[in-house]
Amino acid sequence: MISYGKQYIDQDDIDAVVEILKSEFLTQGPIIEEFEQDLCQILDARHCCAVANGTGALHLVGLALGWKPGDIIVTSPITFLSTANAVLYAGATPDFVDIDPVTYTLDPNKLEEKIRSHLKLGRKVTAVIGIDFAGCPADWEALRVIADQYQLQLVNDHCHALGASYNSDSGYAARYADAATLSFHPVKSITTGEGGAIATNNSEVAERVNLLRTHGYRKGSGSGPDHSPSWYYEMVELGYNYRITDFQSALGISQLRKLKGFIERRREVAGKYDAAFRGDDRFVVPVGGPNSAHAYHIYPLQIDFSQVNSDREKMFQRMESLGIRLQVHYIPIHLQPYYKNKFGFFEGEFPIAEAFYQRECSLPIYPGITDEEVDTVITNLFRTVSQ
Ligand SMILES: *Cc1c(COP(=O)(O)O)cnc(C)c1O
Repeated sequence: MISYGKQYIDQDDIDAVVEILKSEFLTQGPIIEEFEQDLCQILDARHCCAVANGTGALHLVGLALGWKPGDIIVTSPITFLSTANAVLYAGATPDFVDIDPVTYTLDPNKLEEKIRSHLKLGRKVTAVIGIDFAGCPADWEALRVIADQYQLQLVNDHCHALGASYNSDSGYAARYADAATLSFHPVKSITTGEGGAIATNNSEVAERVNLLRTHGYRKGSGSGPDHSPSWYYEMVELGYNYRITDFQSALGISQLRKLKGFIERRREVAGKYDAAFRGDDRFVVPVGGPNSAHAYHIYPLQIDFSQVNSDREKMFQRMESLGIRLQVHYIPIHLQPYYKNKFGFFEGEFPIAEAFYQRECSLPIYPGITDEEVDTVITNLFRTVSQ
């Protein structure tokens, strides 16, 4: 089955994991820190904290930034559920801002309107979570200006975009945002099975995230000025167990060495799709943002179904029968029953996101896909829409 995303694991990855499985520590050993240092280098970030998954990373960022009931946290409706769910974990209130029709990332002009409409009602927006959707950097310069002007916290849900760059800067995530989150789920840029991380240049955020990922306790130093014995630990905050393991971190280190090649291959595949679908009225190919280099976690092709002889459901079924599994990214979060019922979001509230959702089909893109497989996808997709 050719699916929309897939991990790439080679013998070096396997050897790296096996080596740690034979070592003294499976978890809480020295490899986690090594992985974090490699992440710091790649993201040009002062601090990186590896955790159990990307959802946990978002949860911890919310806690570290002090989100609480009554706080309004704004994000894009076109993202994975985790982004908005993390707001709920903190007991805060989510709100959404429509996307830019070209980059499919949060529209800064609409963000400013949203902030002002809350201010008019005497409410302040606490934080904004931008998403580098599909691997395309959001408009971080504009978002930073707005965050400074209205004194908001700025978070980058960077789960799609490890390997992207913005103004030729591959370390933009932690530079513009107060904290950035990563996921190492198998479909993402690199994988550790499950896994995630927080990257930040803010040492206070880093310290709190470190504390909260492991139950909120500090260990005794065994010596030092406080003379606490090594067995001693004290809990100072309510934390969680969001730790990653050493053997996962070993996989992460090995995968990071291949990141550049992974992204290059994703860009090659995107180039083939671009060449096939660009210039045809029935399709809109993702063009990315100005001054940015896409990481192509997803290849979101938009299809104008009013111009083709198929609806999306039929097309997906036909492609599936040919061994090609497409996907839709995403059902806008404000249309999810839970969010509709709890917060009163309604259809038509974010029209650009909703129109994008109606047309979106994610084509298979991953480092291990062959040119022949890409050609098969293209040929069958044309056949299916022309039937
Ligand atoms: C994958 C993803 C997450 C969640 O990551 P997990 O590691 O699966 O918990 C969060 N946000 C976005 C945008 C993602 O794509």
